Amino acid sequence: MSVSELTTLHTLNFPADPAGVELIGSAYAFAEKAHADQKRASGEKYFIHLTETARQLALWKLDAQTIAAGLLHDTIEDCGVSPDEISKLFGPEILFLIEGVTKLSKLRYRGQERSLESLRKMMLAVSKDLRIIFIKLADRLHNMRTLGHLPAAKRKGVSLETAEVYAPLAVRLGMQSLAGELEDLAFPYLHPDAYKWMQKNLKETYTERNAYLTRVIPVLEKAFAEHHISAIRIDHRAKRMASLYKKLLRYDMDIDRVYDLVAVRIIVDKVEECYLVLGILHQLWKPLPGRIKDYIALPKPNGYQSLHTTVFCVDNRPTEFQIRTLSMHEYNENGTAAHWFYQSQKGTKAYRHNISASAKTQETNIISQLKEWQNQFPGSQEFVEALKVDIFSDRIFVLTPKGEVIDLPAGSTPVDFAYRVHSEVGNTCVGAKVNNKIVTLDYVLQSGDMVEILTQKNKKPSETWMQFIKTRYAAKKIKSALVKKMAIPKKTEYRITCLDRVGLIKDISLVFSRNKISIKSVQSSDDRFPVVKVVADIPTKEKAEDILIKLRKIEGVKEISYALT
Ligand code: MN
Repeated sequence: MSVSELTTLHTLNFPADPAGVELIGSAYAFAEKAHADQKRASGEKYFIHLTETARQLALWKLDAQTIAAGLLHDTIEDCGVSPDEISKLFGPEILFLIEGVTKLSKLRYRGQERSLESLRKMMLAVSKDLRIIFIKLADRLHNMRTLGHLPAAKRKGVSLETAEVYAPLAVRLGMQSLAGELEDLAFPYLHPDAYKWMQKNLKETYTERNAYLTRVIPVLEKAFAEHHISAIRIDHRAKRMASLYKKLLRYDMDIDRVYDLVAVRIIVDKVEECYLVLGILHQLWKPLPGRIKDYIALPKPNGYQSLHTTVFCVDNRPTEFQIRTLSMHEYNENGTAAHWFYQSQKGTKAYRHNISASAKTQETNIISQLKEWQNQFPGSQEFVEALKVDIFSDRIFVLTPKGEVIDLPAGSTPVDFAYRVHSEVGNTCVGAKVNNKIVTLDYVLQSGDMVEILTQKNKKPSETWMQFIKTRYAAKKIKSALVKKMAIPKKTEYRITCLDRVGLIKDISLVFSRNKISIKSVQSSDDRFPVVKVVADIPTKEKAEDILIKLRKIEGVKEISYALT
């Protein structure tokens, strides 16, 4: 993609932005030069990766800064360009975006199920600006589209991370189309057998359905003409392979039971027309009970809006219809990215034309937008949790050297981290490294830090830790370890051979009680030289010796030994 193609794409969205065009132009030239000698695994010029990333950002209607940062996103990491140089040439904001992308790239999903949600939250926390996530998503999309060129061993790992981390992130941002494509690109590598099965079993139905729909469309057009409705677009979409597979698993792989294998999508101008179209469809064809959904009145938590219905259509075949306005459609497909665009275009004709009821906000500031979403979706626990990370900063997300994400309250220290990993790691902790640098144990951790705990066998926690630790869990563990350190009682058994006499047992007992040690049990045999066995908890070896000496002094005691039991 040439620089003029890219800037033309940008100008479509931002007609009056000469400064933006200039910025994109200079970022383009800089990146092209910086990556001149590098090649992709496919043998293509590496620079293609940057123009493809930038093109995607322009298609998502993001601003010039984001597009420029997309072009430059690998220059610091891969070309050794200094952050200072980027800042000097392109300004601190672009540097901030690029460094954010680099930080995100260092977070790796290594297959630990339990930390998945934390990892997604961490990405939002580390990003601070959603545009960083958009750049990362555009970067990942191009990498997935060219995944076939990577060594086979690497493909599965990248695919897993894409399906488990990036696709759900895209869903959370309302970018359904991207999420679907990412899942489909990962699908053949994650489920090779299922992929083969789907290819074999879907082909026929797929073509049949397409042929079928070409018969449905004219019926629709005729009905719309009669009711004076001009649909902006009528198109059909095939269900994505990965999502169809998920659905088939729930339906015993019975394709006939999946009604939205192909759906007809009707895009109209106004919200009222959506409901009108729904009425027309239900007059034409009988609807399937329980399959009418009004996501316009009740949008999905991610902002998705549309009317859905399944009807017994031509040939009595169940067919799903989705009805929505153009701005709802834009939002559903590109989510936040499109929303961002409408925000920046506020006041222009395009904005007035496209703005949807759900996308109305007063400020362009991304943080206030996030706050508004939080008010908008109070029921979606997950979504709210993720947003809190950005806005209230009450949690931090740090990494173990193995890449596992540990979720802690803000202000936590390496000691809190150590106890969260394992109480033994906490108890034997003697030092810590954060991002490979030695830090003090009261160091305040930041989201994204990689933390390594240095331990030493038989070490005990220090009481001074209590003054800076943040988590109650660590406090509890430190306290109990300190108590154990002061006194670790050991069960000790004394065998006392003695000449039997009146009051002997009493004298023996007195030795223990005077030393404030309680006796667990006393046994004695009935001989002339009975053996008295005393079991007691003696805190230390010194104390046990001390007791032994005292017992020896008792009249009649002939021989004595003790053992830990
Ligand atoms: Mn990249």
